[in-house]
Amino acid sequence: MSKNSKETFYISTPIYYVNDIPHIGHAYTTIIADALARFNRLLGKDVFFLTGTDEHGQKIEKAAAEKGLTPLELANKVVGRIKDLWKALDISNDFFIRTTDPFHEKGVQKIFLNLKAKGDIYKGTYQGWYCVSDENFLAEDVPVEAEGYKTCPDCGKKAVLVSEDCYFFKLSRYQEPLLQFYAQNPEFVRPASRMNEVASFVRQGLRDLSITRTTVKWGIPVPDDPDHTIYVWFDALHNYLTGAGYDWDMERFRKFWPATIHLIGKDILRFHAIFWPAFLMAAQFPLPKTIYGHGWWLRDEAKMSKSRGNVLDPYVILRTFGPDPLRYFLLREIPIGLDGNFSHEGFLHRVNSDLANDLGNLVHRTLTMIQGYFGGLIEDLEEEQAGDKEIRQAFDALKERVADFYENYALSRALEDIWVYVNSVNKYLAENEPWKLAENATRKKRLARILYQTAAAIRGISYLLYPVMPESGRKIWSYLGENKAPEEVPFTSFRFEDLKTGRRVQRTKPLFPRVLLQDFLKEEAPPAVSQKKEEKMDIVTFDEFKKMDLRVGEILKAEKVPGTDKLLKIEVNIGTEKRTMVAGVGDTYSPDELVGKKLVIIINLKPAVIRGIESQAMLLAAEVGGKAIIPFFDREVSAGAKVK
Ligand SMILES: [Zn+2]
Repeated sequence: MSKNSKETFYISTPIYYVNDIPHIGHAYTTIIADALARFNRLLGKDVFFLTGTDEHGQKIEKAAAEKGLTPLELANKVVGRIKDLWKALDISNDFFIRTTDPFHEKGVQKIFLNLKAKGDIYKGTYQGWYCVSDENFLAEDVPVEAEGYKTCPDCGKKAVLVSEDCYFFKLSRYQEPLLQFYAQNPEFVRPASRMNEVASFVRQGLRDLSITRTTVKWGIPVPDDPDHTIYVWFDALHNYLTGAGYDWDMERFRKFWPATIHLIGKDILRFHAIFWPAFLMAAQFPLPKTIYGHGWWLRDEAKMSKSRGNVLDPYVILRTFGPDPLRYFLLREIPIGLDGNFSHEGFLHRVNSDLANDLGNLVHRTLTMIQGYFGGLIEDLEEEQAGDKEIRQAFDALKERVADFYENYALSRALEDIWVYVNSVNKYLAENEPWKLAENATRKKRLARILYQTAAAIRGISYLLYPVMPESGRKIWSYLGENKAPEEVPFTSFRFEDLKTGRRVQRTKPLFPRVLLQDFLKEEAPPAVSQKKEEKMDIVTFDEFKKMDLRVGEILKAEKVPGTDKLLKIEVNIGTEKRTMVAGVGDTYSPDELVGKKLVIIINLKPAVIRGIESQAMLLAAEVGGKAIIPFFDREVSAGAKVK
């Protein structure tokens, strides 16, 4: 019964639905949670980090049947893939819950019965739109069409209005208690802007919530009424209780509940900020402290339609870079409350400039100099001079700020500030020109101080980065001859000057690979698409182009691709959007004469990268005496018109 005196930090991700292939979106939520969990462990808190999978429901049942598997067999496969991904991303969850775990099913049934006994759950009649073909009720928010019926969003067929017996949760009873709770706990929903959205939804009135179905079999049966299955949110949300130990490890449950933060995507905010606290109020559990709805990584739609389809597969990046560059990019690029646009260009830019250039070079140069000038030993310091002192004091100030940012979930701000410091250390090194001091035997102690200061700064930087980049943090510490890992040093006792003299550093290879976009994309291109063929782009055969989506394109801009004779970079309007393409027509046409012309282009090809430019369309041309001749239209046509 005794509550641990240590402060606790309980963080959860949503449980991921097992009909999905894990992608960047899942990785993002889990990486945020991992960084926050790791930081709170550094603070010395007792951390419980929960993630897991949502495995019930009709979609799983159907998907499994199509594959000739039982739902649980399908779930087992996907769970295996998700766990592999978490391992590849260096995720440090303390527990992984599956809604098919017997303790979860038992816990949910127990709560169901409690609420039924209290009158918060009652039996009634549900009227809803039902898709006969999918044997499924449509979500409430599917709109009614002008003709007065709803269309199934899954199969596009007309749904019918039917009634069935079901159990309801008395959500209406909690409208006022919820509003009072929001007023007293303005930090309950974050970012703050989303609190208003939630409260105004509740103010419009809450209807009771149907929480069982007779048409869905793959789920937790209602105790004492097994024709009914508990479905969707009532089952899934309770994972936050059962995953922490409710009803099967009550010691852990008492220690960690209520959760400190449920981290979720903003699309499931209402379920977490309205239904979940209402369920908890009904069952008389304390409420979690914060529901944080983070933003999404998007790709602009034009890119999505012609993409190679694996762009959001995290392994595309993990295979080349390992976990830390992806973790860094996702957390650095945008504040977690906002949306971001994911592109490989953006990713590589960050990795090459921030990681390979700013940080990787700093580490590599410093260790190489300590190796070269002192045989790998850090020793014989002279006293700190003004500039040396500045580097140390700037670190101490940085450490305080970074702690504040991490505590306020402002991960991108923490990383920004760390990089300002990285660059000031780079500047310190450049200004002190250690390579010149090394030429003069009498300046040896000055040289040692500069390299010490730089090495101590690197040790501090990698410590502050550790929650976001654990693997790099550990590596850098071992290069510096530390016998501990960063996570073994409590945040409050970490000091800049604890880098001891007399230790031996290791010679290293560069920490982060520098990868060019061209090479990166080339490596990932499916082998069936020959880069050479696409680069030629002079002529395509009929067999090839009849499969293609051909459109009228209007040339908006054309220019020579630098360093080539033949290649032009051409921007075309295809009615709904602009596309850029690279075409080998530069020895037939000048850029100027092309502007305004309309021609036939293929818009559904996989993009090719040619001379570093992504070519998103291909034009048709005849090859005459080695030159490309483009067929232009001789009548007025509008850009985007289909060509058959
Ligand atoms: Zn349907």
